[in-house]
Amino acid sequence: MEIIKVMPRGYCKGVIRAIRMAVECTKRYPNQPITILGMLVHNHYVMKALALHHIKMIDDPNKTREQLLDEITEGVVIFTAHGIAPQVLEKAQKKGLICIDASCPDVLKTQALVKAKLDAGYEVIYIGKAKHPEAEAVCALSDHIHFMEPKDPIISLPEGKLFITNQTTMSIYDLEALFQKLKEYYPDAEFCEEICNATRIRQEAVAELEQIDVLYVVGDRFSNNSNRLAQIGAEHGIKSVYLIDTVNDIESNQLHDAKRVAVTAGASTPTYLTDQVIAYLQDFREDKQKPKLELSALLNGIIE
Ligand code: SF4
Repeated sequence: MEIIKVMPRGYCKGVIRAIRMAVECTKRYPNQPITILGMLVHNHYVMKALALHHIKMIDDPNKTREQLLDEITEGVVIFTAHGIAPQVLEKAQKKGLICIDASCPDVLKTQALVKAKLDAGYEVIYIGKAKHPEAEAVCALSDHIHFMEPKDPIISLPEGKLFITNQTTMSIYDLEALFQKLKEYYPDAEFCEEICNATRIRQEAVAELEQIDVLYVVGDRFSNNSNRLAQIGAEHGIKSVYLIDTVNDIESNQLHDAKRVAVTAGASTPTYLTDQVIAYLQDFREDKQKPKLELSALLNGIIE
């Protein structure tokens, strides 16, 4: 069985930066409780590894970031790589919390672009994933932002200045098709495709794979970019695609008769987890033992 290690894969610069910022807080504020408002990056194992550094996380899919903030009463609050609404930052400051913003610069760039268009009097259509914190932060900027998912019917707006853009981790292929439809519907609108480079090159690498029997995407089910990698693999003809958290999710029946097995990973997936998957698949035998997962090694290569 041949193992194809898809390149590039795994951590992006925004995720590395956010993890380093969080750990740095423990050195700068050794006597303060540190809480992340939501998942710092969308990977549960990263959160478990940060918990070893006494960094707590609060999250609830049914609550907005603003509602979650009510649960933090003291110390340091870290805003996640997905960006934060100005109202939430202001509320945290009023509560007297020490605010650390780990928003990815690419996310901030899109937010700034949307804000500039709003200031110039545009209505904005923002394409993203519902309830995703990045979309939540952008849509909180104004009532003049109209949110849609790629599968939604096109929003009908009155004539006027219109700007159309998107969340950074969407599928480049979904978005291309949707922009085409929107261009027919709104021929005078301004478009700006804002998929970040890390997302783009990971997706293109999956789309270019050939003659693959099985694709493993190592990533969390909450990670939009990991889900999109799995989606793109399936859309480009790979019959067996599995989104897995760790090596423990691999089942030997998935590999029956497989000659070429590819492995990629979402931008928030620890390299350690992907390396374990690759090592397990190399020289695979049905009775091969799975490696143990050492939580303390999860952030290897990112922090000292
Ligand atoms: S996937 Fe893109 S937008 Fe998200 S953290 Fe990484 S670089 Fe930033």
